[in-house]
Amino acid sequence: MSLVNVGAPVIYWFRSDMRLQDNPAWTRACAMGRPVIAVTFAPVLSAREVAWGIPGLSPSRKAWWAATVQELRRELDALGVSLLVLRGGAMEDLVRLCETSGAVALVCEEIAAPYEEAQLSSLRASGMVVHSVWQSTLFKAEDLPFSVTNLPGVFTRFRNEVERAKVPFRTPLPAPVNVSGYDLTSDTVTFVEDFADGEDASKFVADSRSAFQWRSGSFDANDEVLHLDEVRAGSAGGHAYLRSYLESSRVAQYKATRNGLTGMAYSSKWSPWLALGAVSAPEMMAALKAHERNHGATDGSYWLWFELLWRDYFRWLHLQYGVGLYRPKGLLEAPMSERVPHHRRSFTLWTEGRTGCDLVDAGMRELACSGYLSNRMRQVVASFLIYELGCDWRAGAAWFESQLLDFDVYSNQGNWLYIAGLGTDPRGGRRFNIAKQTADHDPDGAYRALWSTGS
Ligand SMILES: Cc1cc2nc3c(=O)[nH]c(=O)nc-3n(C[C@H](O)[C@H](O)[C@H](O)COP(=O)(O)OP(=O)(O)OC[C@H]3O[C@@H](n4cnc5c(N)ncnc54)[C@H](O)[C@@H]3O)c2cc1C
Repeated sequence: MSLVNVGAPVIYWFRSDMRLQDNPAWTRACAMGRPVIAVTFAPVLSAREVAWGIPGLSPSRKAWWAATVQELRRELDALGVSLLVLRGGAMEDLVRLCETSGAVALVCEEIAAPYEEAQLSSLRASGMVVHSVWQSTLFKAEDLPFSVTNLPGVFTRFRNEVERAKVPFRTPLPAPVNVSGYDLTSDTVTFVEDFADGEDASKFVADSRSAFQWRSGSFDANDEVLHLDEVRAGSAGGHAYLRSYLESSRVAQYKATRNGLTGMAYSSKWSPWLALGAVSAPEMMAALKAHERNHGATDGSYWLWFELLWRDYFRWLHLQYGVGLYRPKGLLEAPMSERVPHHRRSFTLWTEGRTGCDLVDAGMRELACSGYLSNRMRQVVASFLIYELGCDWRAGAAWFESQLLDFDVYSNQGNWLYIAGLGTDPRGGRRFNIAKQTADHDPDGAYRALWSTGS
């Protein structure tokens, strides 16, 4: 006969899903009817970045993360659950936490990227029971008109098939209400450090030139409308922004403006909340559909759906190809020994915004100073690194990972691979003509002037 400790807790690890509502993994943990220990890890350099000697994470990335965690912590506190912030990405700390608390299992979001999967494998290898839940896509795998191991090779076919089959996006879930916290003994928490010292978001001030203007502090629910040009981290801030954005004329204009370079208005700026999961993609879609019912569909509202499909596509690609997307030659049939050229010095100059190409240098300064970059400039600087400087695309992806406040492993790897021409698209890579990009997108030099200096 086995003895079951009914008071034993379950550990919930918040990864890129920093929200309580529409979080199937969190809902599953709460449904176990056990007290919950909530943990997260402060971001540190991943193995992908360490491999390229990247010195550290940008202040913007750390601050947006800290501001998001502060909001999550506030929401959990209201439920009587404290959030432990562990440092260093060390899985041993989770194992220790499990052993000292007698936790029956750990529940978390599944992330289908090699480094993130290795984290769960090491927990399982230590004997921990780990339940991971695939949940960051718009759709459920079983609703797709093809199996995830047989994905259409190009995005347009993926989109056409999804649209033809009218695949429903996952219905957002409410936040669970029956949740209780677990009292940790002081022995258990001695190895837990708080993030408040190093990455205090309240001291962070966004660069006034940044295309993503945010402020620390909670969204005040008494404010009916969030100021669209100055936003807040966390679920409440994200939902307030989403509501205000969808009430504005920006949606209808999105298709025409989305290739802009400066200011908050040219694109949706949904990615910072999506990346940390403060708002889920199905929640964004539900709000977008409600907007279309109330105000009518436009080219802009359709194009936002189109872009969210790109986000999904890179996620499904990861499920299909996994580690293949991280090889030097990506999915190309090439011997593993075949090297991708890389020039360390050129890479460093690129990261510092000192390549001598005005447009690229402006983009790299914007990235370093603000943690954000328009989609157009992400494409331009990525193409320049790969095709003009002859550097390894994976180094560029790692630099973006360290800098972007909206870093998302799937979208980042997928887009870099796409520009390098090493993914599924048979048309090869995307080499951008810099003179043409400059003439088309910065004809008067306003963008280059804005970012002619660093901070
Ligand atoms: C080299 C490169 C690296 C990138 N790295 C990231 C990353 O780490 N994190 C990230 O979120 N996006 C990444 N992107 C995709 C895209 O640039 C950003 O999602 C977008 O610029 C975010 O701003 P927005 O929310 O205003 O986008 P909008 O143009 O308003 O689009 C709405 C949403 O659609 C999705 N989306 C739009 N374009 C893409 C795309 N090309 N691929 C996948 N999803 C897309 C995003 O979720 C975005 O929030 C990268 C693109 C390139 C070219």
